[in-house]
Amino acid sequence: MALSERVRDWTEDELPVTGVVRDVVRAPAPVLSASGADVDPTSPETVQLAADLVATMRVSPGCVGLAAPQVGEGVRVFCVDVSAHPKTRAHHGTFVLCNAEVVSASRNEKAREGCMSVPDLTGDVKRATRIVVRGQLPGSGETVELAAEAFEARALQHEIDHCNGLLFLDRTAGAHAVYARKTYL
Ligand SMILES: [Zn+2]
Repeated sequence: MALSERVRDWTEDELPVTGVVRDVVRAPAPVLSASGADVDPTSPETVQLAADLVATMRVSPGCVGLAAPQVGEGVRVFCVDVSAHPKTRAHHGTFVLCNAEVVSASRNEKAREGCMSVPDLTGDVKRATRIVVRGQLPGSGETVELAAEAFEARALQHEIDHCNGLLFLDRTAGAHAVYARKTYL
């Protein structure tokens, strides 16, 4: 099975635990600015965290991804699901990645971003529109690689940034590229 297909087929039903909805922390919580630690993707703590991230994303309107620092855990785990977002074209459905890194990136494009941890602001952020990301699946610990583009690629870069202690605000060109949010969605 191609690695990208493995990610596409993955769902949280593979996890042997039930996710718990967690409180989302907001800036300037220090955990949001700290570089996350690598995790053992097969450990019970990581598996529970993976399920919790998906559960929290599911109950949050408009949420297309959530990273461990946003629920107060300084580790490199995040979930993404852009399938319901109107800006989405190709995507891999719901997935969680541990210790993920961008392997290659190309074609920058500027677009508006928001974040549950920065609820009152949005900002223009330049991101690659085509990326390859490598990480590990929680539970099995399989190493997977996926090629993502457009809105999903942006969501992945946003979540990987969270795992490295960066917010979208750190990626804007300056205060002129930050806006008050009028509505959450
Ligand atoms: Zn965010």
